[in-house]
Amino acid sequence: MRHRHRRGHGSSQGRSMEDEQRLEEYLETLWYLQEEGRQELSHIKDAVGEAEASHLLLALMENRWVRVDGDRFCFEPEGAQKASQIVRRHRLAERLLHDVLDMGPDQVEEDACRFEHILSADATESICTFLGHPQTCPHGRPIPPGPCCQRFVKEVTPLVRPLADLNPGQQGTITFITPKFRSRLHQLSSLGVIPGTSVRLRQRHPTFVIQVGESTIAMDADLARNIFVRSQG
Ligand SMILES: [Zn+2]
Ligand SMILES: [Zn+2]
Repeated sequence: MRHRHRRGHGSSQGRSMEDEQRLEEYLETLWYLQEEGRQELSHIKDAVGEAEASHLLLALMENRWVRVDGDRFCFEPEGAQKASQIVRRHRLAERLLHDVLDMGPDQVEEDACRFEHILSADATESICTFLGHPQTCPHGRPIPPGPCCQRFVKEVTPLVRPLADLNPGQQGTITFITPKFRSRLHQLSSLGVIPGTSVRLRQRHPTFVIQVGESTIAMDADLARNIFVRSQG
């Protein structure tokens, strides 16, 4: 899960976008090492190579994001904050690509590396909320929580959840149907089961029955788990 470096053009805050992205990659590299308990400086060399390791440390120390204690690195508070946000964007992007677009864990890595540099704070919160504030990425690594996740602790249910999680009588608006059922999308849409439509769950047993407009439609649990709705209470 190391990163190929992507280079962009333009500038922000006096740093070129290229520099900005490189710093973000550096922070991310150290975050991964710290997660694995590999904070000795020799592990940085193993991860990025000897030449790059000294650039990495110098750049991060210059920004006061990281300090060196003996033979180990430590994050300064600002560096830890920045690094956790980058990792958060990366892993949320992985979840989005994996859960919603049905991409395999091996496929999501490269695209997530691009997302981590471009997602705004607002977009990141929206994705997190949309996905129900997931705690781990598809590889099982922890997703650092954001402000939306702390608020969520007080709420009870995620904004978007599988139709199968509704209680009988509850209503929701369809937001997406996972690509697993791509072959049935045509049939579903002819029944009015399309994003933007309001549905009510009528029963869960012995089979799921939903109501869309005037029609009632029966479906198995697997399909009901793959249709996501935004709750309407
Ligand atoms: Zn991951
Ligand atoms: Zn969240």
